Amino acid sequence: MRVVLLGPPGAGKGTQAQIIAGRLGAPAISTGDIFRANVSGQTELGQKAKVFMDAGDLVPDEITVAMVKDRLAEPDAKAGFLLDGFPRTIAQAEQLAGSLADLGQGLDRVLELVVEEEELVRRLSGRRMLVDGEWVQREDDKPETVRHRLEVYREQTSPLSGFYRQAGLLSQIDAIGEIDEVTDRALTALGFTDDDGPAGAPAAS
Ligand code: AMP
Repeated sequence: MRVVLLGPPGAGKGTQAQIIAGRLGAPAISTGDIFRANVSGQTELGQKAKVFMDAGDLVPDEITVAMVKDRLAEPDAKAGFLLDGFPRTIAQAEQLAGSLADLGQGLDRVLELVVEEEELVRRLSGRRMLVDGEWVQREDDKPETVRHRLEVYREQTSPLSGFYRQAGLLSQIDAIGEIDEVTDRALTALGFTDDDGPAGAPAAS
């Protein structure tokens, strides 16, 4: 199954992506994680991306799109994937559709995690990551940057809901609640039943 996970920063995409991908038996592909690995590894790509990431801006498409295209061409993504954090603009969505069409593929479903903005600010400002045994705040989780990332989301990424709704691919789920509850809603929207694998056609949006 080929799935895009959509949702604002702080909606829990990373956490849900890991769990859902496990159920799909497909890799979770997070552009944010790939960028962060490149920043830590001090690669050329990482150095280019860091400036934009630290400012809470989107990394330019010419860097991001090529990176995703390469990743989707890897063998483990052949039978399915769960994309987390990509696409983030209509242009990226169009490029994704083109790349998949080149591979003779298409998306099965786009799952949007819905959380109101006040809750996102609260979650992001309190979020910490474990790095080398220490809890640290992501550079882009600082309050000013959080506000800007949410603005970028509102302006550049939220139009994707309409784009994918029109394509008949969108399912929106309430992403407030315990992790397990949100996972259950996500799996139901993807057409999974309680205790077995994919139940054929995805549920209606
Ligand atoms: P995330 O972990 O998904 O919140 O991503 C962290 C940062 O990586 C974002 O704020 C952007 O700077 C960059 N990034 C991740 N995915 C994309 C994308 N699809 N397009 C552009 N920039 C991205």
